[in-house]
Amino acid sequence: MDLDDLYQEIILEHYKQPKNQGSIDDPDVVVEGRNPFCGDQIKLTMRVRDGVIEDVKFAGSGCAISQASASIMTERIKGRRTEEVRSLLEEFSDMVKGGTHPHPHIDEDDEIAAFQGVSAFPTRVKCAMLAWNALKEAVERRLSSSSAEEKKDPRP
Ligand code: ZN
Repeated sequence: MDLDDLYQEIILEHYKQPKNQGSIDDPDVVVEGRNPFCGDQIKLTMRVRDGVIEDVKFAGSGCAISQASASIMTERIKGRRTEEVRSLLEEFSDMVKGGTHPHPHIDEDDEIAAFQGVSAFPTRVKCAMLAWNALKEAVERRLSSSSAEEKKDPRP
């Protein structure tokens, strides 16, 4: 089996049996995303504690690329620090757009590497990015709300 076949297999497997599906009970942040070009939808719920993504789930519908991307992403980021996730976000975005920047957080055997073939199909890039764009918004919103909390706290 060559790498392309293996990657296809990973995507189909996550599409058929998605991980972290549903929504968490007490999320810090909820982000919804849509890809009107393909009809994909996703709702991401996430809880962050002390800069770590403690829990994350997604609910959605759409094509195999969009839903598998969400499933693999949630698995990959759970338990990770938000700074690491931001680097991963940039690397993933660059990878699926066919960029040439190094991807130190993405090994060849990392499941998210399965999406590198998407760069050859520009219309599918939006499908692969849907969950990641929602994640980006979630992380940014979470960061701006925690810095607002700090501002409320008067420092001596
Ligand atoms: Zn799609």
